[in-house]
Amino acid sequence: MAQITLKNLAHSYDPTPRSEADYALKEMDHIWEDGGAYALLGASGCGKSTLLNIISGLLRPSHGRVLFGETDVTDAPTAARNIAQVFQFPVVYDTMTVRENLAFPLRNRKMDPGYIKARVDQIAAMIGLEAELSRKARGLTADAKQKISLGRGMVREDVNAILFDEPLTVIDPHMKFELRTQLKSLHREFGHTMIYVTHDQTEALTFADKVVVMHDGRVVQMGTPEELFERPAHSFVGYFIGSPGMNFFEAEIAGAHAIVNGVEVPLGATHGPVPGRTRIGIRPEFCVLDRAGGLPFQIRRIEDVGRHRIIRGEVMGTEVNITVPEGTEIAADATRILFAPEKINVYADDWRVAPLGEEM
Ligand code: ADP
Ligand code: MG
Repeated sequence: MAQITLKNLAHSYDPTPRSEADYALKEMDHIWEDGGAYALLGASGCGKSTLLNIISGLLRPSHGRVLFGETDVTDAPTAARNIAQVFQFPVVYDTMTVRENLAFPLRNRKMDPGYIKARVDQIAAMIGLEAELSRKARGLTADAKQKISLGRGMVREDVNAILFDEPLTVIDPHMKFELRTQLKSLHREFGHTMIYVTHDQTEALTFADKVVVMHDGRVVQMGTPEELFERPAHSFVGYFIGSPGMNFFEAEIAGAHAIVNGVEVPLGATHGPVPGRTRIGIRPEFCVLDRAGGLPFQIRRIEDVGRHRIIRGEVMGTEVNITVPEGTEIAADATRILFAPEKINVYADDWRVAPLGEEM
């Protein structure tokens, strides 16, 4: 196993790119630690599969290098990289049985038949296909085929990394949860580096130790679920993580407070001069309704969702959400909104600006 380093990596599918817009991946430098469980999260088309295929060697980057440990593998074919990859659309050999499908990567490497049998049984149990082992893959349901594909990705113990590209798309939600749990236990047991691509934040947050958020061809943040929640590095992370996402307000930043539409909003920390388009961001969980202080808030509607209520409304024309615990009474004369100062983040041109004295 090995640490994966991306050095000045960029990719354009256009052989003669003219501007940054022609790059599916903008230049990036990142280290993926050996043995990490990563989720690669972002909207459709942001470059997740492109990045994964560059790591596995299916795609050669137009710029930069890929290193496994100290070895430069940029020009090495997939087979030489010792990586397992599971695709969004299952790749299954229809004429083979489930057992033969799962055994395929091991047979290819001429592993001992006794080991192969034991390992295939173990994987079949993890993906819930023990009863189907001797059936031909042809005729199985789409979700069974996806499980076979997933199992084949998990069967080798000797890989550098396992890459999953939205591997549970056609699987029903309950089974999804089961399989994700299995992947996590596989990770704990064998410690492979795993990169799990998804556009679903719940999947990402439950699978990964570190979530890598991509937006428009860039990795905008690599962090723990808590870091993404507390200190989104980019406004996209604020919007994309959380439901509903972070609230943003155009603001002027003046030391230890922000000025929003002429109203002074205290911040939890002091900022130096902040250039560019400045906004403050505050999650719905850290806003409260009030009768007197803060900014004027107009309630539009209230939604009850499980253990909390979402109050949807407006602050001077900007859509704003507040989350409160279920059963919270909402007073008719509560027409203002207050923010927990230490939970406010400051953004300049969409990137978070650290306050003075914050440890990096
Ligand atoms: P994701 O997996 O996040 O949905 P992709 O990596 O598939 O995103 O795509 C990133 C961008 O690259 C998209 O704009 C997509 O249209 C483009 N793209 C992907 N594959 C190709 C290709 N083979 N040729 C040209 N453009 C491509
Ligand atoms: Mg994709």
